[in-house]
Amino acid sequence: MASEGPAADPLLPIPLQELKLLENGKEWQIHQPLNELSSLTPVRGSLRAVHRGNVLELEGEARTIVTLCCDRCLQQFNHPLSFETREVLWLGEQARVDGIAPETVLEGDLEVLELDADALTESLDPSADFDPEHWVFEQLNLQLPVVNRCGEGCPGPNLQGTGSDPDAVIDPRWAALKKLQP
Ligand SMILES: [Zn+2]
Repeated sequence: MASEGPAADPLLPIPLQELKLLENGKEWQIHQPLNELSSLTPVRGSLRAVHRGNVLELEGEARTIVTLCCDRCLQQFNHPLSFETREVLWLGEQARVDGIAPETVLEGDLEVLELDADALTESLDPSADFDPEHWVFEQLNLQLPVVNRCGEGCPGPNLQGTGSDPDAVIDPRWAALKKLQP
């Protein structure tokens, strides 16, 4: 199968200790489905992870299309998901978020990071692996709507059924609601 653009790199976990040795970090070109997210199209995008001593800097963007179920009419519809995120994860014990000054976070003479102390809420065990696939999943998952609506043309709840015996075709999830009707 011919592919355009740079070759995709599988999103495989990488030990943080290995990432530490890569001066420019590691970059992934993403073009694959995710184990944890069922999507209509492969997830496409890119991710860069740079180990900066006691923080892990992550910068990525990706997009895909997922199939959701409308909360009102219960029909399935396709919904695009995308994110563009820059995040810094603390490596080591859970950081005390208030009171972190950037100069205490960075080691050595590195480029200046504009650290938002509020962003430093998560921490990773420095001897563990960084799992890029899970990180991408989390970012996409955060973009899922709280309420699923198929669109302006939503026909609304089907309380009538369509056949001669309405109870035979009505969605069981609406059966309880139908009983409330006069
Ligand atoms: Zn709908």
